[in-house]
Amino acid sequence: MSKQKEVTKEMFFNEVAKYISDPQSIAMINKAYDFAQKAHEGQLRKSGEPYFIHVLNVAYILATLTAGPQTICAGLLHDTMEDCGVTFEEIETNFDHDIATLVEAVTKIGSLKFKDEKEYLAANHRKIFIAMAKDVRVIIIKLVDRLHNMRTLMYQPEEKQKKISSETLQVYAPIAHRLGLAEIKNELEDLSFLYLDPQKYHEIAHLLENKKSERQAIVNQMIVNLDHLLSDKKIEYRIFGRSKHIYSIYRKMITKNKRFDEIFDLYAIRIITKNELNCYEILGYIHNAYKPINGRLKDYIAMPKMNMYQSLHTTVLDGNGNIFEVQIRTEEMDMVAEMGIAAHWAYKEGKYNSAAEQKEIENKLGWFHDMISMMNESKLAHPTEFMSQIKKDIFEANVYVMTPKGRIIELQNGSTPLDFAYRVHTEVGHNAVGAIVNGALVPLDTVLKTGDVVQIKTSKQSNGPSEDWLKIVKTTTARNKIRAFLMKKENDMRSEMIAKGEKYYSDEVKRRNLDEKLFLDKSKLETIYGQLNINNYDELMYAVANKSISIAQIVEKLQKNKNTSMADNESLTKMIQEKQAKKDKRSKVSTSGVIVEGISSMMVNLAGCCMPVYGDEIVGYISKGQGVKVHRKDCPNIINEKNRLIKVMWNPQQQETQYDSWLRLDAQDYNYLINDIVTMLAQYKVSLYGIKSESLPDKVNTFVEIKVKVKDLEQLQTLMANLKKIEAVNEVTRITK
Ligand code: MN
Repeated sequence: MSKQKEVTKEMFFNEVAKYISDPQSIAMINKAYDFAQKAHEGQLRKSGEPYFIHVLNVAYILATLTAGPQTICAGLLHDTMEDCGVTFEEIETNFDHDIATLVEAVTKIGSLKFKDEKEYLAANHRKIFIAMAKDVRVIIIKLVDRLHNMRTLMYQPEEKQKKISSETLQVYAPIAHRLGLAEIKNELEDLSFLYLDPQKYHEIAHLLENKKSERQAIVNQMIVNLDHLLSDKKIEYRIFGRSKHIYSIYRKMITKNKRFDEIFDLYAIRIITKNELNCYEILGYIHNAYKPINGRLKDYIAMPKMNMYQSLHTTVLDGNGNIFEVQIRTEEMDMVAEMGIAAHWAYKEGKYNSAAEQKEIENKLGWFHDMISMMNESKLAHPTEFMSQIKKDIFEANVYVMTPKGRIIELQNGSTPLDFAYRVHTEVGHNAVGAIVNGALVPLDTVLKTGDVVQIKTSKQSNGPSEDWLKIVKTTTARNKIRAFLMKKENDMRSEMIAKGEKYYSDEVKRRNLDEKLFLDKSKLETIYGQLNINNYDELMYAVANKSISIAQIVEKLQKNKNTSMADNESLTKMIQEKQAKKDKRSKVSTSGVIVEGISSMMVNLAGCCMPVYGDEIVGYISKGQGVKVHRKDCPNIINEKNRLIKVMWNPQQQETQYDSWLRLDAQDYNYLINDIVTMLAQYKVSLYGIKSESLPDKVNTFVEIKVKVKDLEQLQTLMANLKKIEAVNEVTRITK
C-alpha cells in the first residue's frame, strides 16, 4: 500500500482533463463539484477532515479509472442523498436523470445490511448485491467508495474496523475480482487483512521487506537478460517486475499449507507488447532461451478467464535455479487485467458523439446485456458460455425472498413457502398452516420467486408435518427437519403403544391370577420370541397393544416352555460363547488384511501416515523391530526407499476389516457444509470417527478433514465422488498424515 497523496481540486481536474475535454462535460463536473461541496458544508469525517474530502477522493479514483462524466458526477454526489437530504428530483433538475438514478442506486445499495454472517452465505450477498445494482457503474462507484473508506479506516473504533474489514473481504473484494478490478481488489484485501489480523499482516510485510533488495537484484538481472534476448527482434515491448500483495501470499500459505519462502520462491515478470502475435512470438523466444516448467503454460489469450482476463503465462528457470513466472500480454489486455470491466467502460471521447448517446446505450441495456456487447466488441471466445454461467449463478440457482421485515432469505430455486418457513425457524415450519405471499393467501406448495415477500401463518393447534410435506419441500434442510419430526412422532406413538401393551398385559396376568414370577419375568418371555416371530420385548408389547398377539397365545407358549426352557437356555449360551471365541480368534490373526510371504501376519501393520485401504496399490516397508509396515505405493514417506521395500498383497479372504482414512474437503460457503457432509456419510452408511475444520480468514473458503472407516477402496472412492457433489465442496482428497 502506497501512502496516499492528498487529493486537491487541481489534481482532480487535471486527471479528468487527461481524457475529457468536451466543455459541456467539464462544466457539468464543475457544477457537481460545487454542488457536493456546498451540500456537505460543515460536515466532518471521523478524521476531522471536511466530509467533502471523501467525496473528492472517490471522484478522483473514478477519474483514474477513466470513468465517464456522468459516473464522475455521481461519484461527487454519491453521499448527498443519504447525508445531506438532497432529493432525487433536485439532482435530476440540476444535472440529469441518469446521474440521479446512479446516486439513488448507490444510496440504496449502501443500505443493504450484511449483518448476520452466520445466517447468510457471503457468496449470496455478492449475488444479491450485483443483481440489485443492475448498472455496473453503480458497483464501480460503490467499490471506489469502499476503497476510500478502507484507506481511512484508522479513524474508526477497533470493533467497527473489524466489522467493515470482514464485510470488505467477504463482499467487496470478491465483486472487484469478479469485475476484474485487480488493483482495487488487491488493495481492499490487503487493507482488510491489516485490520483483521494485524500481527500476521506485519509478519508477512516484514518478511517481504527483508528480502526486497535481494529479490529486486534477481528480478533486475532477469529483466536485463530478457531485454538482451528481445532487443534485436523488431518487437515493441516493455518488461517489468511485479510484486505480490500481502493477502495473496497469506492465502497461499494457508490453502497450500506452505511456508513463506516456499511461496516466495517465485519471481514475477511481466512483458507488455503490441499485439497478440507479438505475445506468442515473445513466448517462443523465451522458451527457446529458458527451460519452461511443464504444465505451467497457460494460454488465457485463446481461452480468456471469466472476468475477461487475457494473458499468456509461463514459468521458466534461469540458469541459477530461480523460478520466474512470466506474463505476456498486450497493452489492452493489461488494462483489462488491472481495471477489468472499467477498462471496457472507459470513457472514450469521440467514440460517442455525446454523453447522451453513451447514456442511451447504457440505459437501454441492463448490465448483463452490456457484458454481452462488451464481450462481442472485444472478440472474446465464449461470451454465451460466460453469460449463461453468470445467469445460472445469479438467477437460476437461487431465489431471494424477503420476510415482512425485509430480511433476505436465500432459497434453492423451486422452493415453496414451507422451505421458507423451515429456513426461518424449525418451529415455524412445524406449525405452518398457511402462507401469505405478496399480501395474498397461497397454498403451501406455491413456488416462490425472487422478490416475493413471504409471511407464514402458524398455529399451535397444527398437527405438524405430514408425509405429503416431503413432496412439497425442495431444500434438504426442510426435508431433514420434516423427516426427523415424523420419525419422532412415530417413535412417540410406538412408546405409547408399548406402554399401553405392557399395562394391559400385566393387568391381564393379575386378573387371570397367573404366576407373576413366570409371566412377568422378561427373561422367561424371551424364550418365546422365536415362536411368536418377534425380536424383542418392545415388539411383543406393541403387538399386545395392537392385538396382533393375544394374551392367550403368550400364556399357552409360556406354559409349554416352562419345563424345557432351562435346557434350551444353557445350550444357547454355550453356542453364543463358541461363536464369540471363534470370532476373537480370527480377528487376532491380523487386522491389516495383508499377506506378506514368509512373514507371520501378526507382524504386518498398516502405516498410519498414508492409511491404505483394501484395494489400494500397496508396498511393504521392513521396519526395525516392528515387522512390516504397509504403505500406499505413492506414499511420500517411502517413495525414496529402495532397499527395505517388500512386495505385499491384500488377502482376498479377509474383507471384514474396516480401514481408517482421512479425507480433506476444500470448500466454500461454510454454513450448511458439516450438515451436508454428515448427511452424505449417513446415506452411504459410513461412520465418522474424527473431524477437523478451519475456515480461512475470508470466511468463505474453508477446509474440513474427516476420518472415516471404510471396507475397501471402492467404497472410499464412491464416497469421495459423492462428497464432491456437495454444492459447496470444490475438492476432496485423501491425505497423508
Ligand atoms: Mn461514501
